Amino acid sequence: MSTIDLAQTVMERIEALARISEEPDRLTRTFGSPAMRQANDLVATWMREAGMTVSEDAIGNVIGRYPGREESGKTFLLGSHLDTVRDAGKYDGPLGVIAAIACVQQLHQSQTLLPFAIEVIGFADEEGVRYQTTYLGSKVLTGRFNEQDLKRFDSRGISMADAIRTFGGNPDKLKEGRRDPQQLLGYTEIHIEQGPVLEKKYQPVGVVTAISGQMRVRARFTGQAGHAGTTPMGLRRDALVAAAHFITAVEVSTNDFPGLIATVGQIEALPGASNVIPGEVILTVDIRHHVDATRTSACARLNEVAHRTAEKRGIALDWEIVHEAQSVPCSHELTALLSKAAKRHLVEVTELASGAGHDAAMLGEITPMAMLFVRCEGGISHNPAEAVMTDDVRVAIAVMGDYLLLLGNQLNPLSGKKHA
Ligand SMILES: [Zn+2]
Repeated sequence: MSTIDLAQTVMERIEALARISEEPDRLTRTFGSPAMRQANDLVATWMREAGMTVSEDAIGNVIGRYPGREESGKTFLLGSHLDTVRDAGKYDGPLGVIAAIACVQQLHQSQTLLPFAIEVIGFADEEGVRYQTTYLGSKVLTGRFNEQDLKRFDSRGISMADAIRTFGGNPDKLKEGRRDPQQLLGYTEIHIEQGPVLEKKYQPVGVVTAISGQMRVRARFTGQAGHAGTTPMGLRRDALVAAAHFITAVEVSTNDFPGLIATVGQIEALPGASNVIPGEVILTVDIRHHVDATRTSACARLNEVAHRTAEKRGIALDWEIVHEAQSVPCSHELTALLSKAAKRHLVEVTELASGAGHDAAMLGEITPMAMLFVRCEGGISHNPAEAVMTDDVRVAIAVMGDYLLLLGNQLNPLSGKKHA
């Protein structure tokens, strides 16, 4: 089968997976659900067809293994997640799993064995929809799983431990899913960009340089609630007006930090009545950058701006960082190899940082990691309108296929490389 057919096959398989949902009229597939059971089973049949032996670990990650030339060799991991958000698009997650299977299928059909084994992993949870905690699948592989999470309950009162048991996993054996970093060569994930950069640059794929670090701030502006009819404008301490000035200042401030992304996505004005001056406003600021130092200094600047804005209006400010994640750089070596493979298919290779988190961020903690982004229409994601072109998938499979061969050549002592 040629690469052309493989890209078509990938698209058809993604369509088939998209029909497996918990909800009749839209795609929703959450951790441990019957839909996930069906998805794992279907993916397992495709893995077997590509010459892999299939297993499932204790949390429900489906894992296909394609042997290497030597039994004792290391393992290279490919994969992405099979769970989705509510009312999801088809490609976020599944593309990375299905395209990886296609790459292995290519090796299998040409009876090529590399100096390392390949495992394709369909992660059981990345989005965190059911238990409001993300990366459940990849956390088990990296040994970062928090056992306390087993006591979490979903909206129907089912504990995570019970959900894992019902699915066919074993909450008591999660530790066994942990991978020994010494046995791993690296991890690489294909994922849709979920942003508009590649489309703007007319590029089918792009090589990721890092997964951006992130901060979430909760800011509370406290003024004085009052009668909207009787309090003159000059005598007000309107928390919402102060917050509004701050919000526009956030946008302006990003100009001073190239690449910075900052968003006020949530705002609550209290008491929230049309005839009352807002006495209190609570808002969130989401701040991201691929360089941690830039992110933290931008956050410090926004904090300063918020205090100045509040002070000017006699408003009290409470500023709390509620979430912080460091950026995860992609492996320099793997990324260079991925770019080299991409150059065989593209005139120009676009490098970009990922603003969204991925399983790769988790895997990057235990093994060298790289990512290949695929252009998606309008940069739209987490939305049923998510769309990817077959031609772009074709390029992604070709790049990934060459990448695996390059990696094999690098490790193969017979590849003609002279050793000092
Ligand atoms: Zn994803």
